[in-house]
Amino acid sequence: MRRRLSLKMPELPEVETIVCSLRNPADRAFAEGQSLRERPGIVGRQVAGARLNWAKTLALPDWQQFQQEVTGQTVQAVTRRGKFVVIPMGTNTLLFHLRMSGDLRVEPQDAAEQKHDRLLLDFSDGTRLSFNDPRKFGRAWWATDVQSVLGDLGPEPLDEGLTGQEMYARWHRSSRAIKTLLLDQSLLAGVGNIYSDEALFLARIHPLTPGNCLTPVQAEALLAGVRQVLHEGIERNGASIDWVYRGGDFQNYFRVYQRTGEPCTVCGTPIERRVIGQRSSHFCPHCQSFTGCS
Ligand SMILES: [Zn+2]
Repeated sequence: MRRRLSLKMPELPEVETIVCSLRNPADRAFAEGQSLRERPGIVGRQVAGARLNWAKTLALPDWQQFQQEVTGQTVQAVTRRGKFVVIPMGTNTLLFHLRMSGDLRVEPQDAAEQKHDRLLLDFSDGTRLSFNDPRKFGRAWWATDVQSVLGDLGPEPLDEGLTGQEMYARWHRSSRAIKTLLLDQSLLAGVGNIYSDEALFLARIHPLTPGNCLTPVQAEALLAGVRQVLHEGIERNGASIDWVYRGGDFQNYFRVYQRTGEPCTVCGTPIERRVIGQRSSHFCPHCQSFTGCS
């Protein structure tokens, strides 16, 4: 049975999927004579104008300044940091946070605007970038200092330089539940409710385990679990969440997330759900038994 998720925040794989769709695939050969307009990415396109349909979407600066400064700028790259979409243009950078329901599309300017399109950038080649956001929690920033928008963000889990030892040091400082610590973006960037549950299951760690009870071996296993589920999510274009994130199907491969009462894929014990730090947590009580603090 195909699963359909209730509304929730996009996490690293969903944001990465959107970022990839906005990037010009460097390894793809384009047919001779094919115009930029026919290519999928936005890198290299020049902004001819902007439109704002919902004032609060633009968090920084004010609309007039944004419009003035963004016009004429060329998209240099499309990258991701944590759950932020980061688009450098000249000396400034355009950032998006999708929050609950944000989505970014590239399309020809003659395509009809969609309901809930909040911020639109028209490019000089006749295409546009549309930020659609039914729930209106998504935000865009135009900033010279990217760090001031990103704030205190922990390391990228897929950064090869990040070690289990470093995560052990970060998690071990706190007595809060590891499930809560995994959602703390200042400790590790990009992980949310789905991928934290899945990673804890792979690492066989009970979600209520206090951070300062984790062993170095468990921290190592947990980082490996986080990486595995993020890679799986990216490979499947993320999880499709309500009407957003077209095409992703990671929701059909969940081991524990939203599988309350269904048998564990390893031992058959029914999956349990518990609210931890106001977020629901799904786990196998047998595979993820809490062994206590040594
Ligand atoms: Zn189990």
